[in-house]
Amino acid sequence: MTHILNADLHCHSVVSDGTLTPEALAQRAKANGVELWALTDHDEIGGQDRAIAAARQAGMPYLTGVEVSVTFVNVTVHIIGLGFDHTHPALVAGLKQTRGGREERARDMGADLARVGIPGAYEGAMKYVGNPELISRSHFARYIVEAGFCTDTNAVFRKYLAEGKPGFVPHRWASLGDAVGWITGAGGVAVVAHPGRYKFTANEEFALFTEFKTHGGQGVEVVTGAHGQADYVKYAEFCREFDLMASRGSDFHSPDESHTDLGKLPDLPGGVTPVWELLEARVH
Ligand code: AMP
Ligand code: MN
Ligand code: MN
Ligand code: MN
Repeated sequence: MTHILNADLHCHSVVSDGTLTPEALAQRAKANGVELWALTDHDEIGGQDRAIAAARQAGMPYLTGVEVSVTFVNVTVHIIGLGFDHTHPALVAGLKQTRGGREERARDMGADLARVGIPGAYEGAMKYVGNPELISRSHFARYIVEAGFCTDTNAVFRKYLAEGKPGFVPHRWASLGDAVGWITGAGGVAVVAHPGRYKFTANEEFALFTEFKTHGGQGVEVVTGAHGQADYVKYAEFCREFDLMASRGSDFHSPDESHTDLGKLPDLPGGVTPVWELLEARVH
């Protein structure tokens, strides 16, 4: 696989908080020219068999994927796994455990939102949930827009669901070492997702990447929907500094909500090694 490849290794289906099925995503990716695809649902690999089959039908090379929620120094960090064996027992069990607290968290979110004048948010969010084990803030955001409290989901996060806002319920996710261990133990490569989104100080970010490497992490998302030009440059530099491979993925969730469509991303900057060079043997 070449350096310049329309790889899109980050997106979400109805199996987590996306609005399209794995099959519809595969068709959209193919139509948009994607040449290597991965479905990376949050904490969940239940869509992988469908994605593998749909990609095969579309004639589009595919890598297994997941986006694991991690708590690192009290901040939520996302770790992408790519090219693993999605039947590996420790990975399957670890993800199930990571999903486990979501139901109770969602009920607490519903109670908090009721206190600030949004009744019935838990029940409302459930109408949007495709997988009962994977209720997310995105589902609440869709309901809060439907109920007329905000005009779009970004506004819901700003007003209600971001850290420190009234509907935000702190949650302890997997540890960094566990998440990286589950992915690498199943034969995959671990990648720090959208590092430009975390509000880390330079010291905290250095600690994240240092610890990530210690656990066996090998990649960083350089080109992704939430990043701009300055992030591409900064994290390409991180690739050299920390000897990491570069990944590329839209983080597409929905035609109505996502700014970056599947496959519609700038190429990786020169001078980095694409993560897919490590993963040729894992392509479906
Ligand atoms: P959760 O895993 O339930 O905490 O939900 C996290 C998801 O919420 C992310 O994967 C995004 O899809 C979405 N999200 C988080 N922050 C924002 C934001 N500021 N604007 C829009 N969506 C967001
Ligand atoms: Mn999401
Ligand atoms: Mn994420
Ligand atoms: Mn994502």
